[in-house]
Amino acid sequence: PLLINQIAAGEVIERPASVVKELLENSLDAGAGEIRVDLEQAGVKRIQVRDDGCGIARDELALAVARHATSKITSLDDLEAVASLGFRGEALPSIASVARVELTSRRAGQPHGWRLCSDGGDLADEPEPAAHPIGTSVEVRDLFHRVPARRKFLRTERTELGHIEQLLRRLALARPEVGFRVQHNGRELLDLRPQAESQGSASQARQLRLQALLGEAFMSHALELDERAAGLELSGWVARPAFSRSQADLQFFFVNGRMVRDKLVSHAVRQAFQDVLHHGRQPAYVLYLRLDPRQVDVNVHPAKQEVRFREGRQVHDFLFRSLHRRLAAGVQGDDLA
Ligand code: ADP
Ligand code: MG
Repeated sequence: PLLINQIAAGEVIERPASVVKELLENSLDAGAGEIRVDLEQAGVKRIQVRDDGCGIARDELALAVARHATSKITSLDDLEAVASLGFRGEALPSIASVARVELTSRRAGQPHGWRLCSDGGDLADEPEPAAHPIGTSVEVRDLFHRVPARRKFLRTERTELGHIEQLLRRLALARPEVGFRVQHNGRELLDLRPQAESQGSASQARQLRLQALLGEAFMSHALELDERAAGLELSGWVARPAFSRSQADLQFFFVNGRMVRDKLVSHAVRQAFQDVLHHGRQPAYVLYLRLDPRQVDVNVHPAKQEVRFREGRQVHDFLFRSLHRRLAAGVQGDDLA
């Protein structure tokens, strides 16, 4: 059942990429194995996300677009250990308030799906039957059509698409076991096959996904990392200093599967790179930190990707020491070679 929760509202929809982010996170939360994204005009005209996840029951379609209805936590205590990407129940209603939304979904065991339309937050009266495989499709049309002030702040199609691509890279790196197929104006943008972890280790699945996304250039300069201490686990890759393409967009840090941009994290990483390499160039890395979800608060600001660690000092030191050790060993290896 959907819980009408008590979490304060925040502005989440700034641009097409924010819509894509919320829809994809919902698909991932629904356990999707494959997700298709169709975009027109960088998402301003149309964004459609189709997944093969658990689906939404007929009677919960209207609730899904109602403010503060989430099926993902059932009490405020659950906020202590949020595992899903969404939990505020404000994404779909926020999107519905600034665009036309069509929600079609079918749960396993239902003979067909159900569709509900909404325009500017006004819901159609009743869901109508619709043909649909198990899973959910959300179509968002004419973003900000009734909010000219917001539309004015949109950049060129190229810029908006760039934001979407950056977001797709983050989510695809966070979840290599999920397939992503993305089209823009009828042309294929991405076709990432699911990388099943059963076929290898988590590291192998990630490596294949990373190669598919960033090409060989990064991997062939990457030092692999796998460190753990006191309930903290850091794995992934950092680029050797020899790797020198524009790297500002090659900084990915995931905390329990969620992409994070955090001061404490970037500080620890930068310090380690500077200490070993003695230069201030932008480091390139794809790192995954795992820790007890109760040790990290993701409820700080959902759109800004910040987190708060309960033991900030300890996390900072662990990151710094792990990276320092790996980089120092890697650089020494390069010198010997
Ligand atoms: P939140 O993700 O914070 O719970 P949202 O507004 O994003 O809030 O979604 C509201 C609810 O709609 C979700 O809690 C979920 O129950 C349902 N929902 C949305 N998208 C999907 C989807 N793709 N598959 C299954 N359920 C979904
Ligand atoms: Mg959500």
